[in-house]
Amino acid sequence: MGKKIVIIGGVAGGATAAARLRRMDETAEIILLERGEYISFANCGLPYHIGGAIENRDALLVQTAEGMAQKFNIQVRPFNEVLSINRENKNVSIREIKTGVTYTESYDALILSPGASPLRPPIPGIDEAERVFTLRNIPDTDVIKKQVDEHQPKKAVVIGGGFIGVEMAENLHERGIEVTLVEMLDQIMAPLDFEMAAILHNHLRDKGINLILSDGVKAFQNNGTEILLNSGMRLPTDITILAIGVRPESQLAKDAGLALGDRGGIKVNEYMQTSDPVVYAVGDAVEVTDYVTGQPAMIPLAGPANKQARIAADHICGRTASYPGTLGTAVVKVFDMTAASTGNNEKRLKQLGLSYQALHIHPGSHAGYYPGAFPVSLKLLYDPETGRILGAQGVGYSGVEKRIDVIATAIMGGLTVADLQELELAYAPPYSSAKDPVNMLGFAATNQREDLVDSFQWHEVDDLIEQDGYILDVRDDLEREIGYIEKSHHIPLDKLRSRIAEVPRDQPIHVYCQVGIRGYLASRILTQHGFEVVKNLDGGYKTYQEVYRPDEGANCEIEVDESGVAHITCAPTPEDINAMEPVARINACGLQCPGPIMQVYKRMNEMEPGQVMEVLATDPGFSRDIETWCRKTGNTLLSSTFDSKAFRCLIQKGRPLPAGGKSPVMADQLDGTTIVVFSEDMDKAMAAFIIASGAATMGKKVTLYFTFWGLNILRKDHAVQVDKTVLEKMFGWMMPRGTRKLPISKMNMAGMGPQMIKYVMKQKNVDSLEVLMQNALNAGVSLVACAMSMDIMGIKEEELIAGVELGGVATYLGKAQESTVNLFI
Ligand code: FAD
Repeated sequence: MGKKIVIIGGVAGGATAAARLRRMDETAEIILLERGEYISFANCGLPYHIGGAIENRDALLVQTAEGMAQKFNIQVRPFNEVLSINRENKNVSIREIKTGVTYTESYDALILSPGASPLRPPIPGIDEAERVFTLRNIPDTDVIKKQVDEHQPKKAVVIGGGFIGVEMAENLHERGIEVTLVEMLDQIMAPLDFEMAAILHNHLRDKGINLILSDGVKAFQNNGTEILLNSGMRLPTDITILAIGVRPESQLAKDAGLALGDRGGIKVNEYMQTSDPVVYAVGDAVEVTDYVTGQPAMIPLAGPANKQARIAADHICGRTASYPGTLGTAVVKVFDMTAASTGNNEKRLKQLGLSYQALHIHPGSHAGYYPGAFPVSLKLLYDPETGRILGAQGVGYSGVEKRIDVIATAIMGGLTVADLQELELAYAPPYSSAKDPVNMLGFAATNQREDLVDSFQWHEVDDLIEQDGYILDVRDDLEREIGYIEKSHHIPLDKLRSRIAEVPRDQPIHVYCQVGIRGYLASRILTQHGFEVVKNLDGGYKTYQEVYRPDEGANCEIEVDESGVAHITCAPTPEDINAMEPVARINACGLQCPGPIMQVYKRMNEMEPGQVMEVLATDPGFSRDIETWCRKTGNTLLSSTFDSKAFRCLIQKGRPLPAGGKSPVMADQLDGTTIVVFSEDMDKAMAAFIIASGAATMGKKVTLYFTFWGLNILRKDHAVQVDKTVLEKMFGWMMPRGTRKLPISKMNMAGMGPQMIKYVMKQKNVDSLEVLMQNALNAGVSLVACAMSMDIMGIKEEELIAGVELGGVATYLGKAQESTVNLFI
């Protein structure tokens, strides 16, 4: 017989250590002691069994005691709790829970993998509270699931916005329960920084979770049927999940005189040995070294527990592997989104006083032209001096965890941000882009380091607004329509050179665009035109908007009555929504902006208030735009789900208009949009009709005023018998007749250019000019032909397509006065 090894704890770390020990040493005597009934179960799957995604309970039992014992020739003893460790005699005393019998077991080596237990602080009323649960193991899961199955609670409160709290909120919601998630901090998911967590806040609210931040539980009242918060609010609840963190189960180790860290974790060296070299400890109970900073840390995750267990087993068997420290790489599903992180976040780096630079980008999860691409919001933290990567975070619908995994690998490989540029990552359109988002982080960070661009952060914007700093929005008109930073000036990027005189030279210029790329281009233009201080908003309006999105987008409203009781009205639950039969179904998959919104608008006009429409779309911007569209047009976005192929939105016609948000500024509802179309270029005409249609769907009164060459766009494509002078006839022959004959503004190449662009548009599913025009007319856009220019150019009313009105300059000026947007194309 070889060494005798006793293991305390039979789940993630314990079972892994036992299996590895056997593989390394066939002669060892291995005893696995587990206090509970089950060993080696899938803790990480527990919330999903409650929610129903993992239907089969047995699937959670990765290994049974009998199976493990047989397969690995191990003595597996469930229901055996270790009471104490006697290091002098090298034995442990054990109580057989079922019989109450105690006995001792000697060891040559001992491995502690007792895990961490959920915190259950002595909050007033907690002992009397009947339906307050924590979740750690299979019995906990059984109790919660039974409660949900048998009592069908209507309201649930989840306390704590960490991994388990968020997963439980989602899974209870999946069961049709109205869920309130209460978090003491101002954000959920502590490994993320605030602005990244804000994306999840919005998503949770959109999904109908009533999210209460910056508030904690003061007391459980009425046997736990009511929760009193620090703010005085009282939340009625039928079931409560307490998920406010875990505490390392290190009492045994402490009683045995083993060294513990400040936060109660068992201290170990790189071989997972405790202060007693024959006693090893792994998993949630140990204090690890932060891989990036070298600081002690408590990081309770399954991956590290498994790796540490393997190292402890190897070391006991005379092998030399060592544990390098923990990065804390983690991922969580939050409804349709994924959030992942690795290394240190900005809060931690600040706390440690380390020098860092933050970088935000929002590239597509894969090539934009392949259906189903979604933006991935990534944040990178690196040392500006050395380029060393300190941490990263990602939130999005697709492709998030793979980018964070690559960065985690890069950190462990000692790569710098410059190396991220060079990483050769797998690419084909359905999976990534030729420049993967990780490469993009490398490029953007290198631009920062080489002083090609200076950036400012989302949290500096408020001060800038207050101090009247010059903020320049270089996005397109339609983007600005959806919302913008208060007091910002607007010059679209392609007009910046011609309108550069409007930008003041006596103060710093703070540029922003939607995600940061056009802001970078604008910064380069301005810098090279002699502007001294130019800064680009890191992450663009997208990052800013997530933080400042007005709460009116939330699907739950809380009204606290005089006695402090919260009355929560949430949007319908998934079950309610499923019960609603859509009267209209739109499949806008493959259509690009503004195609899907146009279709929604058109169909909505034919519906009665209260009726429901279903829309399927793959345009990544659609899910965001439809939310704004609904808010601004007084309709209700009932649900927006995502099945990895398309967004499915259910929209109900009508609802009272919400009060406008403070910041970001939402454009006014009732104003008009006027566009003067002077050019006859096809590409410019298309731009005009896209903007016009977009604005019309937002409820604007849109007027396109065609003058001079622009009139050719409105001409019928065949000759019409009308009386004309010779000069008028000559003019008519020389000018293009109708949309199919229009040139393009650049690369016309004797008419080849328009054909090529039409071909590309068809490939990319972009509507032709003819379709755009018809859509605009259907959406109620007024097409006005300038009577004076018609006269000059000899164009008669009969020659124009149907639906065009004639008007003079007064018509235009009148419309322009009612408009906040006036464009000249
Ligand atoms: P555990 O797996 O908890 O095992 C410890 C075992 O020791 C327990 O079964 C306990 O009964 C037993 N024990 C304790 N004291 C004694 C004693 N004196 N005598 C006998 N037995 C004893 N991590 C991730 O990385 N990703 C996830 O998605 C994820 N999801 C999770 C979801 C939930 C609901 C939970 C609870 C945890 C999740 N985790 C996740 C964390 C992960 O499960 C833990 O990090 C991992 O299980 C830690 O392993 P461990 O061996 O240290 O402890």
